[in-house]
Amino acid sequence: MADLYLALLHHPVYDKTGAVVTTAVTNLDVHDIARMARTFGVRAYYVCTPVDTLRRLVARIMRHWERGPGATYNTTRRDALALVRLAPELDAAIAEIEDETGHLPRLIATSARGGPDRLSFDALRARLDAPGPPVLLVFGTGWGLAREVMDRVDDVLEPISGVGPYNHLSVRAAAAIMLDRLRNGR
Ligand code: SAM
Repeated sequence: MADLYLALLHHPVYDKTGAVVTTAVTNLDVHDIARMARTFGVRAYYVCTPVDTLRRLVARIMRHWERGPGATYNTTRRDALALVRLAPELDAAIAEIEDETGHLPRLIATSARGGPDRLSFDALRARLDAPGPPVLLVFGTGWGLAREVMDRVDDVLEPISGVGPYNHLSVRAAAAIMLDRLRNGR
């Protein structure tokens, strides 16, 4: 099986006006997606932010749950948070994955927007089930991943659809649905 990694980018992403911005890291995104990573056999989950103070804040939260009072208070949370890694930007995560696995990861972006040549869930599941290079699934915050990210990835995963044209999910909901589909085919 190919290793699966996740990255949540807080930069470069769009705001509602279409400007490229840096968003704040939220505690909920760190905890919830870490639990998904643990549940669905993800090798590591990168929280990427260029803001040093926010990386330090997340590192402090992680310490609380790994070695501080939280470690014995809630062991399932500790197990999940052990998969969280901090990176200043996407390239730092890519470099670390290459060091760890010996291969550059295939970059797969996620978006609520459809478009030509989207990678289907079935195709990505097949790729993950076979031996091959690691896969880094990239999620956005704010109003989504900026063009400079979308332009450099190997593929963009097909969007999750709703019953009508509206399909704007929180990143946590999107990650949960995707991981269930990729691992269980549902
Ligand atoms: N503030 C929002 C929150 O609470 O998460 C941030 C929305 S952010 C743009 C949502 C991210 O989730 C997108 O960049 C994408 O990675 C993913 N996403 C949301 N809806 C999606 C969909 N229908 N299909 C695929 N990915 C989706």
